[in-house]
Amino acid sequence: MDLDLSFNAMTMTVKQFGDMTKTFLREATVATGGKKVVDKLTTPIWSWGQRNSVYPLHFGIACCALEMAAAGGPRFDLERLGIVFRSSPRQSDILLLNGWISAKLRPILRTLYEQMPAPKWVIAMGECTISGGPWYDAYNVIQGADTFIPVDVYVPGCPSRPEALIQAFTMINRKLTAENRGSFLGD
Ligand code: SF4
Repeated sequence: MDLDLSFNAMTMTVKQFGDMTKTFLREATVATGGKKVVDKLTTPIWSWGQRNSVYPLHFGIACCALEMAAAGGPRFDLERLGIVFRSSPRQSDILLLNGWISAKLRPILRTLYEQMPAPKWVIAMGECTISGGPWYDAYNVIQGADTFIPVDVYVPGCPSRPEALIQAFTMINRKLTAENRGSFLGD
C-alpha cells in the first residue's frame, strides 16, 4: 500500500476538494453537451431576473434629482417596474447622474462607478450632466459626464421629466433583453 498517497488523500483541504469537484463537473458537462442544455434552460430565467430587478444608486446631485424623486413617488411609482433605489454602490446596477458635475465631485463619482459590480450602466439625466448645461464652459463644471464615465443613455431636458427617466430605464431593459445575459455555466 502506498502510504504517501493515502496520507495526501486524507489531508485534502475543503478548497482542493471543491476545486476538484468543480473541474470534474465542468469537464463532464462540456464533454456530454450538458452545459449547452443547462445554459439554454437557465439563461432566460437569469435574464428575466436581471431585467426585472434593476437597482439604481440612490444619489442626487442637483435639481434633476427632484425629478428622480418624483419618478420614485406614488404617481409614477418606479417600484412597480422592479426599479428600487439602493444606497450602496455595491448593490447597484445603474449610476444615475442628475445635475451639474463640479470638478470636485468628478473623482467621487468615478469612485462610486468603480465600486459598482459589473454589469453596470450609466444614465446621464439633464442638460447639466450631458454637456454642462447653463454652466457651459465654466471653469469648475465638467462639460459632460461622458468625459470620464461611459454613458449608456442620455435623457435631455432641463429638468428631465419623470416619464423621460422611465423611458431611459426601459431602454436599459431593452438592452438587457437583447444581450440575454446570465449563462449558468460560463466558459
Ligand atoms: S438640467 Fe436643469 S434642472 Fe437639471 S440639474 Fe441642470 S439646471 Fe437643474
